[in-house]
Amino acid sequence: MADDMTLEPWRWPESTWREVVNKVRAGRSLAPKAWPNGARCAVALSFDSDHETIELRNGGKSFGKISQGQYGGRRGSPRILDCLRKHDVPASFFMPAVSALLNPDEPKAVISGGHELAIHSWIHEMNGPLGYDAERDLSLRAADTLEKMSGVRPVGLRTASWDFSPWTLKIVREMGLLYDSSLMADDEPYELLEDGEPTGVVELPVEWIRDDAVYFNMDRAASLRPYTSPDAVLSIFLRELDVAYDEGGLFLLTMHPHHSGHRSRIFLLDEVIRHAKAKGNVWFATHAEIARYCAEQAVPPIAAKA
Ligand SMILES: [Zn+2]
Repeated sequence: MADDMTLEPWRWPESTWREVVNKVRAGRSLAPKAWPNGARCAVALSFDSDHETIELRNGGKSFGKISQGQYGGRRGSPRILDCLRKHDVPASFFMPAVSALLNPDEPKAVISGGHELAIHSWIHEMNGPLGYDAERDLSLRAADTLEKMSGVRPVGLRTASWDFSPWTLKIVREMGLLYDSSLMADDEPYELLEDGEPTGVVELPVEWIRDDAVYFNMDRAASLRPYTSPDAVLSIFLRELDVAYDEGGLFLLTMHPHHSGHRSRIFLLDEVIRHAKAKGNVWFATHAEIARYCAEQAVPPIAAKA
């Protein structure tokens, strides 16, 4: 980065703020002209199986918080997998490697259920403070661990806490991954640019609006509480889905087993799926399936990867 980075931002010359913005930026839209089989809308359900790593990521050793995370693996994920099985729809599970090692049945259950297992850091560490070498090493070890445990090599990544460092995209490219799902520049899939150059990496954009953690997080020692009721959260998710359907686009939802796998919240997933099915003409697919389809449909297409 230029030396000008040491200046206050209002003193930055244009070259500096452009350099910052262009490091990782949305390029061409990859929204396809049509979804497979004449579907009106694509629905990508994702579950970030963080479990115990939410406490471990910052070096926490609270058994209470660890048990709250363990609930995600022990009751939340099985309940979610049951719901997906009941409706016969595929989904994507993003799992920190340590979470997979602590819950070794889950990676297998995800794959045998017809779902996708994808990378979600080593121990839910933030990428920002890591250097390139550490982030690369952890990303590769995470991919190897998931492959060893599930028998399938992951093709996609979602950074923990969606914390995307200046190195993340470089590492995604070196790993030959098909897609990332951590950034927020659009509702529809797009191609990521690195320093202004097309990368061939598909971005499947997330948003905090479509993430249950925003509404359900709590911290006993601070004032953080779930202020939004599950019914209100459902209303937000369904409105996002309705407009995605009207626009013929993508509805991508992020949920967490330790939040939405509870008895009072599992209806959220059930209702979202029912609502989408009731509309008709909806393509339920894994993130990998959607990314692959969008890459193939692009003009010119993105070269085939994993
Ligand atoms: Zn996470």
